[in-house]
Amino acid sequence: MKGPFVIAVDGPAASGKGTIATGLGKAFDLPVLDTGLLYRAVGVLTARAGGLGDPETCAAAAATLTADQLSDPALRTREAGELASQVAVHPHVRSALLEFQRTFASQEQGSVLDGRDIGTVICPQAPAKLYVTASPQVRAQRRWRQLKAQGEPVSLDEVLADIHIRDARDGGRDDAPMRPAPDAVLLDTSEMTIEQAADAARRIVEAARARWDGS
Ligand code: C5P
Repeated sequence: MKGPFVIAVDGPAASGKGTIATGLGKAFDLPVLDTGLLYRAVGVLTARAGGLGDPETCAAAAATLTADQLSDPALRTREAGELASQVAVHPHVRSALLEFQRTFASQEQGSVLDGRDIGTVICPQAPAKLYVTASPQVRAQRRWRQLKAQGEPVSLDEVLADIHIRDARDGGRDDAPMRPAPDAVLLDTSEMTIEQAADAARRIVEAARARWDGS
């Protein structure tokens, strides 16, 4: 029996995958989960409790996380992104968040999940998989503009340095490293506007949907 129509959108920080995932959710009328928020929430909650260095404390925060903890604006900051990538290296944190993500992905009407390991670990059977990338310079520009609009005083060089650190940590960890699933369609958005990227993603998913409908 075929499972629900899950769209997996993976890729590095500020590649455009969040906007693309939101657009796909609207286009296909599916609920969207930004899985980065889960790791951000674990990072922020454990840092506030002073337990960031302790994998057990991080895993306990992950195991008790609820959906209503994901709307805190503090999760959108530069600091939260950094904390998230620190806790995301712990295998117990990742396994504690697996159930949350798989439960979301099991909704019958289908769903969109964006993250780093959706197509490889969380939903390897997803019928539609995208891996969204852009050059580090382009991603830094985008993230810098976003942070500036949020009122964060940070330079472009600092944001570029953050991006390099995060790429190395997310791609280099032992457990569920960030990488494209072998059956993911690669979408490089470096030279695209966000509208062009969203359109390209929609066309890729339409083709996957037609295959899935006919299967
Ligand atoms: O996507 P976002 O930038 O919000 O993710 C923050 C951090 O959370 C990432 O840099 C990564 O370390 C971690 N993450 C992850 N797996 C996911 C989503 C996010 O490891 N599925």
